[in-house]
Amino acid sequence: MASYDYLIVGGGMTADAAARGIRERDPKGTIGLIGADPHPPYNRPPLTKGLWKGEAPDSIWRKTDEAGVELHLGRRARTVDAASRQVGDDRGATYEYRRLLLATGGEPRRLPSAPEGIIYFRTLDDYRAARQLADQGARFAVLGGGFIGAEIAAALRMQGREVTMVVPGEGLGGRVFPAALSRFLVNYYRERGVRMLVGESAERVEGRDGRFVVHAQRTGPVTTDAVIAGLGIVPNVELARQAGLAVSDGIEVDARLRTSRHEIYAAGDVAQFPSPALGKRTRVEHEDNANTMGKIAGLNMAGADQPYEHLPFFYSDLFDLGYEAVGDVDARHETVVDWKTEFREGVVYYLDGGRVRGVLLWNTWEQVDAARALIAEPGPFRPEQLKGRLPAS
Ligand SMILES: Cc1cc2nc3c(=O)[nH]c(=O)nc-3n(C[C@H](O)[C@H](O)[C@H](O)COP(=O)(O)OP(=O)(O)OC[C@H]3O[C@@H](n4cnc5c(N)ncnc54)[C@H](O)[C@@H]3O)c2cc1C
Repeated sequence: MASYDYLIVGGGMTADAAARGIRERDPKGTIGLIGADPHPPYNRPPLTKGLWKGEAPDSIWRKTDEAGVELHLGRRARTVDAASRQVGDDRGATYEYRRLLLATGGEPRRLPSAPEGIIYFRTLDDYRAARQLADQGARFAVLGGGFIGAEIAAALRMQGREVTMVVPGEGLGGRVFPAALSRFLVNYYRERGVRMLVGESAERVEGRDGRFVVHAQRTGPVTTDAVIAGLGIVPNVELARQAGLAVSDGIEVDARLRTSRHEIYAAGDVAQFPSPALGKRTRVEHEDNANTMGKIAGLNMAGADQPYEHLPFFYSDLFDLGYEAVGDVDARHETVVDWKTEFREGVVYYLDGGRVRGVLLWNTWEQVDAARALIAEPGPFRPEQLKGRLPAS
């Protein structure tokens, strides 16, 4: 039986960041990693961005082995016996640990009763499958108007591919962007040649003669060579549940990223943590959170006593538009929009009870720290006080 001082379940960005955090404090302790993905940890954001724009395929690797980590890849941890501190995997192997990290991320939501071959875009192999189809000139349907759908549709269109987007809401990124911006993006995508079916849902997808037929509720059947679905993720909490840990919208952790059993930690997309800046518990599905939280989990596993107080930011690129966002950017909040050039450059403030809870920096750069400082201010703010507060670049 393999035995480790530190065992990490999950082979994503959080897992890699945690291994590096452990190493920073403990140069000698043994670290094992069990990852279901057959590949060692890699950066996910380039899968919908840089790799489509000529970034070298090899640039994505995190080189986790260089931190002296034993990798057990293509294996899924199935059981955690918290009393005996053992993890069992799907090939019958058992691993002992002193400290355990669950960095199991999330699984893409799937369409019920859909045929094989739909790409639920999340992994390197999903990218490779999409790339191969794109290189063969395939026509694509992209289901979903969130981050993944919007980014992959833009990437494919920039390769000259025919793309139809099926978007359930009124516009793109409707959960985050104010309605007018979200609607603007629909036209912006149309102008770039994407067929936009908005306020539409895919009732059923059918495989037919090596192609797909997407049955859109109002438009009717749309025939394509490939379907990519970006329908969000469901956090992978089964292991934690099976181990008897507290689980809600994710694995519950305290400020030090410990679960309800203190020798077991959780971090990244799967972890629900207390955010002092937002004054509530939250779960974040973004890179900065994976990197920073993973690192702090690793440091704490190796004996540090560091609270996770970071307010993560995230970013995205949509054709030649780009943005960074901090905090609780929820379109249901009151928004104050401060455009330098409408829909092209500016700042959106998200308010709740007069307090700034989130900031969207639209083609506006180097303001993330200033946005964090603003969110830390107690307020209350009146809308006119926010105009010009964070200058567009
Ligand atoms: C295509 C794409 C583009 C993105 N772009 C951006 C971006 O531009 N900006 C941004 O801020 N964020 C972006 N994100 C989000 C960001 O990449 C994620 O927040 C981050 O990858 C989360 O890392 P994680 O390690 O917590 O989880 P995951 O990446 O989900 O990794 C978890 C890993 O654990 C493995 N696993 C799960 N259960 C088990 C088990 N029982 N046993 C073994 N292994 C298991 C899974 O196979 C997976 O490899 C993007 C995500 C994707 C998919």
